[in-house]
Amino acid sequence: NPEDKELPEHFIKNSRPSIKKYEKVIEALKKEPLGEWNLMRKTNLKQTQVRVIRADLIDQDIIREVMYGRDKKYEYQFGASELNSEKFEKLRDFKMNELSQMVNYCESTECRMDFLCSYLGDDSVKKCDNCNNCLQRSPQYIPNDHWKERIQKFQQNFYPELEVETNSSNIVNGIAASYYGFSNVGAIIHRCKYENGGDFPNHLLVLTLRAFRHKFGDEKFDLVVYVPPTESGDLVKNFAHKIARTLKFPFSNELKKIYQTKPQKIFQNYVLKKDNVQDVFSYEAEAEIEGKKILLIDDIFDSGATLKEIAKMFTKIGAEKIAPLVIAKTIGGDI
Ligand SMILES: [Zn+2]
Repeated sequence: NPEDKELPEHFIKNSRPSIKKYEKVIEALKKEPLGEWNLMRKTNLKQTQVRVIRADLIDQDIIREVMYGRDKKYEYQFGASELNSEKFEKLRDFKMNELSQMVNYCESTECRMDFLCSYLGDDSVKKCDNCNNCLQRSPQYIPNDHWKERIQKFQQNFYPELEVETNSSNIVNGIAASYYGFSNVGAIIHRCKYENGGDFPNHLLVLTLRAFRHKFGDEKFDLVVYVPPTESGDLVKNFAHKIARTLKFPFSNELKKIYQTKPQKIFQNYVLKKDNVQDVFSYEAEAEIEGKKILLIDDIFDSGATLKEIAKMFTKIGAEKIAPLVIAKTIGGDI
């Protein structure tokens, strides 16, 4: 299947950030030495990108690691030579060649042992009489009913875990009904949120309730609270209200933002997302929270920075437990 090639090809082509991003890091470090977190703040690059770029720049003697007391910082080496991107291109060509060899192996109708040995420089093997080509068997594996059933069961009972537990608050790991990019859930959320598609449809509610049962069983919560939106709209509020009504838990409107934040999605890394929501939430009716178990609802889970910030605030007020429940979890969020 030619489509199978797209994913590994994508990874090879994008294994290095663009040269522009390298320049961003160099420019930032020319102004002042920075640690990793501040480098993420200044550049709005993902942590993984910052790390790849940093390693390359150290490798090319353009920056170096310096200890400032206990803090590790990166310092631009004045007089350093220009970034040499030829190295990256060579490595990419090498990997592309490897990939095409792999494709050739898959598509070969000759003896596979012979293929592998020739690739490794051994021409002595001609025909192994053991591989599927020598035996003229199809390499396809067709799952039987037993496995089909197991796969189906897995798909129906799999809910992404939200790993948010920390020592600094009473938040516990939560659960999502689905991945954002998985099945059509992400597309539905997107339509409701950004294309005026109306309230989240009922089957997302059913799916989310199933995820709740899967994770929390019959556990009772004292209050259902939802994350107030960045842009106006009652989508999450209405959704959380339906959840509360179905589970017969009290529902609250009282979680508020003290000031406006920017949408989290414009930030590429956790440091900036965390900065963006720091100290922005408040809850006036503290008695509703003290000693209580809170079910905290949102539509999309990305970095978890927002939920953790809210949990921190609730813990300060005295909440006993904060459990997040969302519709979809993004993949590859930079945490
Ligand atoms: Zn063979």
